[in-house]
Amino acid sequence: MTRCRAIIPALALCLMVPTVARAGAPAGEEILLVGAATLHLHLAANLPLPHPVVVEWVRRAAVAVTNYLGRYPVKELSLTIEPGGHRAVNHGVTHGARDIEVRLGSRTEAADLKSDWVMTHEMFHLAFPTLDDRYLWMMEGLSDYLEPVARGRAGQLTPEEVWREFVEGLPQGLPEEGDRGLDHTFTRERIYWGGNLYWLLADVRIREKTDNRRSVDDAIRAILDAGGNGDAVWSLERVLEVGDKATHTTVLKDLHDELGPRAGAVDLDALWKRLGVKYNNGAVTFDDTAPSAVIRMAITYGRPPGLPTVQP
Ligand SMILES: [Zn+2]
Repeated sequence: MTRCRAIIPALALCLMVPTVARAGAPAGEEILLVGAATLHLHLAANLPLPHPVVVEWVRRAAVAVTNYLGRYPVKELSLTIEPGGHRAVNHGVTHGARDIEVRLGSRTEAADLKSDWVMTHEMFHLAFPTLDDRYLWMMEGLSDYLEPVARGRAGQLTPEEVWREFVEGLPQGLPEEGDRGLDHTFTRERIYWGGNLYWLLADVRIREKTDNRRSVDDAIRAILDAGGNGDAVWSLERVLEVGDKATHTTVLKDLHDELGPRAGAVDLDALWKRLGVKYNNGAVTFDDTAPSAVIRMAITYGRPPGLPTVQP
């Protein structure tokens, strides 16, 4: 999958489907009610698809994000969808916790929107604070990590599709010769895939240390509950502190110490073996007898807050 996007300075087993309803709206604006949140959609008249198709695209992304977080991350959001760009979905940008802008190419079809990742990626930016530019990898990597996980939990991707994306993409995020760590290497691959890898490793390690009782889910929900949405400017230290406190571990800090200021060493093949993810010619299969298969299942299917962890 080609990943190319604008940089911003910034249980399927038991699906918690949020209340999503369409309501009356002034001319030129569509309104989506997502639980307690109101999404104001400003849709250009000359989009390549009928407005109901575009609204459904936004709704699916909002369902995935809400299902992951337990609530939509902001109370009010303005979404501007205009024509533009050469691919199906282009130039996704999130401004703080208030506005998302996305452009649709002239040949975009309904199927493109059904398989789109951009809208979900942008919405997750609403749920994490803005950090210093040097930690852009942490912001972009989080949206990249959560997007397939959340779409998978909402039934919008199969487990195989979720893990295929990680297996095929994450090698791009590994350090190359001369790498000075995520905090000091500003290639697109390290920002997006390297950041994505940090969050996957964090999720696996938190779950291993807590007998699968805590996870990145808890860390991100705690950061959001503490006011860490896209409008807030936080220090890295605050993110690590609030996130680690929520999981009763020091995983986020320790992993940053390992991969932030230095290149670090990650053995992806060993990780896939531990999680029981097998890849062969573009096809993913799962080994449920692998030592940490239960962790892979918990990441894949999630659990509502307060309920027991998924067991194999
Ligand atoms: Zn982004």
